[in-house]
Amino acid sequence: MLTLDGATVRFGRDRAHTALDGVDLTVAEHEVVCVLGPSGSGKSTLLRAVAGLQPLDAGRVLLEGRDQGAVPAHRRGVGLMFQDHQLFPQHDVGGNVAFGLRMHGVPRRERPARVARLLELVGLAGAERRAVATLSGGEQQRVALARALAPRPRLLMLDEPLGQLDRTLRERLVVELRELFAELGTTVLAVTHDQGEAFALADRVVVMRQGRVAQSGTPLEVWRRPADAFVARFLGFDNVIDATVTGEVADTAWGKLPVPAGTPSGGCRLLVRPAGVRLVPAAAGLACTVTARTFRGSHVALRLAPCDDGPRLDAACALRDAPETGAEVGVVFDGEDVVVLP
Ligand code: ADP
Ligand code: MG
Repeated sequence: MLTLDGATVRFGRDRAHTALDGVDLTVAEHEVVCVLGPSGSGKSTLLRAVAGLQPLDAGRVLLEGRDQGAVPAHRRGVGLMFQDHQLFPQHDVGGNVAFGLRMHGVPRRERPARVARLLELVGLAGAERRAVATLSGGEQQRVALARALAPRPRLLMLDEPLGQLDRTLRERLVVELRELFAELGTTVLAVTHDQGEAFALADRVVVMRQGRVAQSGTPLEVWRRPADAFVARFLGFDNVIDATVTGEVADTAWGKLPVPAGTPSGGCRLLVRPAGVRLVPAAAGLACTVTARTFRGSHVALRLAPCDDGPRLDAACALRDAPETGAEVGVVFDGEDVVVLP
């Protein structure tokens, strides 16, 4: 459906600032791809380039195999829901959703039925005559989504679709969106800085860093095997440490850690997922002091400081096993949760 081939966008004087740096990306029909990256990594620029709102300095955008270089935005057949999803305050809900239909030449008599169906899809059946100002944040988000879906774009692009909503609402809407996209068979390219949102929404996640693709894979692949320390840290994994590998053992400031058979000998960095940091009695394993303890609902997150120096560690443990702040514990590492980073 969509192919980006070395897409490059530069800004500023002498075009010295590269916002999009040779990005290669594909989105298959019916696929939901989520681009994840910190603020300023080029996510919005990427969507604008695909939509035809931002010219490329190099590279190509192809839709269904056709180069879009000479195709203006309104002819590309893609829908874009902007980051701030501004609704038209002077129009009611129905008027907002119908906007795209008018633009795309759908006859007036067909519009009400289309609008009603879309509002039903986003869980706002019968809301046509409501004023935009009377809607909650979540309802406005749904209206913006219905408006973007209305012209039946072959590719729907969403810029931080749930960014402005509170957490509970976001978690609910993410589930509803997934159902909706599956039902409609919509091809979706969404961007977000929120990893939870990306992982919940996407068939495939593309992690961006400074205008480049740092990693692409299914949520499970990226979660299991972050490609490098940047991706690991961005996903919230902070247990990253320098290591020297010999055979199936790595020497680190946390002592000797197991690594998978076949790991190349020599220097590398290791990620230890918090689940792989296991607590044992203080006399066994690496001696640490608990410096912080945070209740996370399903588990307790612990911050541990090794007694003999070395970087701090994050651990996760069950509520009933969680030691108090200040307690001395021992730590051993599970090989399954040790990931070798390049
Ligand atoms: P994101 O959406 O990931 O936060 P953006 O795509 O908005 O990132 O921006 C990427 C980089 O390009 C940023 O450094 C931003 O300041 C810059 N940028 C974006 N749009 C413009 C513009 N119209 N003019 C100049 N610089 C821009
Ligand atoms: Mg943005």
